[in-house]
Formats: sequence, structure tokens, C-alpha cells
Amino acid sequence: MNQTVMILLALDPSPFVELGQRALHSAGYETAVVHDRLSLERALHEVSPDLLLIGERLGGESGLQLAAEQRERFPTLPILVYVEKDSLDIAKEVLRLGLNGYLYPPLRTDDIVSTIRRSLKQAQRLGDWVRQEVRRSTAALQRQLADFKAIFRNIDDGIIILDSKGRILLVNPAAERAFSIVAEEVLGKPIEEAIPHPDLQAMLLRPRSEGVPYHEINMDDGRVFNAYLTLVPNVGSAIELQDISYLKELDRIKSDFVHTISHDLRSPLTSVLGYAELIGRTGPLNEHQREFMSRLQASIRHVTTLVNDLLDLGRLEAGLDTRREVVHLEDIVEYVLDLLKPQIEARKQVVDLDVETGLPALRANPLRLRQMVDNLINNAIKYTPAGGKIGVRIRAEDGQVILEVSDTGPGVPPADQPRIFEKFYRAQNVPSNIPGSGLGLAIVKSIVDNHQGRVWVESTLGEGTTFFVVLPAQAD
Ligand code: ADP
Repeated sequence: MNQTVMILLALDPSPFVELGQRALHSAGYETAVVHDRLSLERALHEVSPDLLLIGERLGGESGLQLAAEQRERFPTLPILVYVEKDSLDIAKEVLRLGLNGYLYPPLRTDDIVSTIRRSLKQAQRLGDWVRQEVRRSTAALQRQLADFKAIFRNIDDGIIILDSKGRILLVNPAAERAFSIVAEEVLGKPIEEAIPHPDLQAMLLRPRSEGVPYHEINMDDGRVFNAYLTLVPNVGSAIELQDISYLKELDRIKSDFVHTISHDLRSPLTSVLGYAELIGRTGPLNEHQREFMSRLQASIRHVTTLVNDLLDLGRLEAGLDTRREVVHLEDIVEYVLDLLKPQIEARKQVVDLDVETGLPALRANPLRLRQMVDNLINNAIKYTPAGGKIGVRIRAEDGQVILEVSDTGPGVPPADQPRIFEKFYRAQNVPSNIPGSGLGLAIVKSIVDNHQGRVWVESTLGEGTTFFVVLPAQAD
């Protein structure tokens, strides 16, 4: 034997200890003897035995229990048990615990040595197999890791992985380019320190309850990214950045086009409406002519409203809404409700107005806020059947004023909810007899965005809809 083989004997003092040691030494093995749990633990680490022979009892403890514990910790270490008496129970227990075998008197030197040798061989085979498996799994893992790294590096979207405390774990080259950062310099740092971009910070600070996982990130050089924040269990979170600059550019070109057309349409429309009104004054009209004329005027007014909405949207999107003054949202809501009273009464709807006292003021454009409130309450009236309920609530929280407009109408289907703030988008369940252009909520969103606020919808089909608008209160 060219390498020493160490057998650890964990046995209570007895004549067998001496017999065993002698037998093992004569076969060329080295031995160490321990008599209790503590010295067993120490020896397992210090002498790294090739085999453990443990007594049925050791230092007053169950040797089988100790053997089971060591089997858990050292799965490839061969473990034999020495028992005073053979029994079926012992045989079953040794099998159940996955031990390598057991010895019992009467024992001859040869029996001891041959059992030990057999167990060592078994262990050798198991060790070879384990090593081979580890090599195979490691190679497979390395291949997978290399694939993952290649995908992560080459993916077009930017990816930033954060741990549960918001420190950067991984950054891919697309994210490095997006924020002009170098991965090595930001790894391990808190994201707010490493990438202090205000739009990114706003996304990270936004409460999860708002349920909007994506956010637009506007770069100083004009690029725009759509960022998604996803929670990753046991890791933290992942931020995915998609460059949408070209979509924004397309949207801008489309908006410019719509703006120009709307502008060019407005003057002729005004004169068509003017002439239509003049016709009535040029001489008496018969009943049919009067009816046609009033339908004509209603249609022209409808088109004029549409054109005005489009022009408004164009102005809002171009950032031309810069007028700011001290405004109380509750005054605006009361004013709008007063104006809409005839419509509400005609539809026999009930309005529940709940305004918190001592609300802070806003710095806002009063005309735009009136337009926003008007669109939201108008929709609640329009979509809620006669006799339904409309709730308007205003409250303050954390330096923000929150407006909620709720109704007991048909609700917005979940699939449509993310899209109703888009221009011209109407939900699938809108009955054909309810008029609308799909521009009202796009205007609301632009107004809210221009005031650094947030708007979202929560709705249950068949139960009703609530629109939430959060606006920053005026700083003291
Ligand atoms: P519209 O002119 O169609 O009312 P909006 O932009 O104001 O356009 O609204 C977009 C869509 O959102 C509507 O067509 C409708 O499907 C849905 N919607 C808005 N408000 C409500 C509401 N209070 N109840 C149900 N659906 C609504």
C-alpha cells in the first residue's frame, strides 16, 4: 500500500478496541481512536479518515444516531457499525441509514480486515462515480453559464439585476451604453448612487400597489427607454430597458401631421358652422329643412370638438402648457360638478363628493385641470347607466393630492385597461350608441404628465371603474 489509509475507531473502551487496532495495523492501516462525540467531531476534521467504524453506543449516546449524522455530512465516507449482538433490527437500521455494514462478535482478525477492505473498495467506486458526476455537472454548468453570459452580453435590451437591497449585481453592455456607465465601476453599489437618473429613481420609488411596472426614461441626448421592473424571487429585481426612441419619433411625426391637418380644418369648419346658422336667418325653413339643419350643426359641432381636442393634445404633447398658478383642486371639482349638474340630474345619477379638509394647494394650470376633471367626470356620467352612482374623492397623502373618480358603470375589460389612455383607443365593451372619439383620456394623461403627476385606472367588469390622479402638492 503506497498511501496510508486511516481508519477512525469511535468505540467505547473494550477489548475489541485493542483487537481491532491490532488487526488493522497488521493489514497496513493506520488507526485513531475516540471515545465520545466531541473527540469524534474533532478527529473527523483533523485526521480526515478513510473509514469510520463506530460502536453501537458511544460515550452514552446512540452510535447509530451519530453514524446517521455523519452520513448526512460526509456522504462518501464509508461507515461501519460495531454491535455487541447481531439482530434483524440492526441489519434493517443499518440499511435504512445507508451505512456500509456492521461487525459483531465473535470476530477474527481476518473478518475485521476483509469487511474493512470491502467497504473501502465500495467507497472507492462511489468516490470515482461522484467525481465523474461532479466533473460532468460542472462542465454542463460551465457551458450553461457561458451561454447565459453570451446572451446577457449580446441582448439588445439593457438589463440591470439588483439584489434585495437595491445594489447592482449585474449590468449588460446595452445598459452600460444606455446610462454611459462602466459595469466594473458600479457593481455592488446602490443603484440610486450608481445611476442617479431621476426617471429611473422615480420608477424604483413608485409603490408596487400602483401596478404599473413600466416607466419611460428620458435621456438628455433625446433617447427614450421603456423600463420594466420585475421582482426576481431569491435575488432581488431586474430592470429591463427597451430603446423606444424610434417609436417616439414616429409618434412625434404622426402628431405633427395630425396637428397640421387639425389646424387647417378648424377655420373652414368655423365658417361652415357660421353659414349653417345664417341659412336660418335668410328666410323661413320648412320642418324638414329645420331638422336637417340642426343635424348638420350637431355634426359640425362634433367634428369641431374633435379637431379642438386634437389641437389641444398637440399643444400638450409639445410641452406648451407652462402656465402655473396656485390652484385648489377641490374648487375646480366643485365648479365642474356644478356645470355638469343638468346632465347628472337628467340621468338620475347620484354624486357622492368626499373632500378632505385642509387640502394643500397645487401649482397648476387651472384651465387644464378643469379639462382633466371634466373629462373624467363626463366619462363617469356617460358610461354609467341611469340611476348609477358617481363618487368623487379628494385627499392628501405624502405631499400629494389624490383625486379618485369612481362609478358603478360597466367597467373596463382588463385587456383594454393598459390602452385606454392611448389616442383614439376605445374599449371593446363600449356600446355603439355611446359617442366618443377616444381622445378624452389621452388628454387627461398628457395634462397629468405635464404636471408631473400619475394617472391610472382600476376597474372590475360589471361593477365599476375608478380613475386615480396623483398630483404633487405645491411645495411650502
Ligand atoms: P371616449 O371618447 O371613447 O370616451 P376616452 O379617451 O375618454 O374616450 O376613454 C377611452 C375609453 O376608456 C372609452 O372609450 C371607454 O372604453 C373607456 N372608459 C373611459 N372612462 C370609462 C368609464 N368611466 N367607465 C367605463 N369605461 C370607460
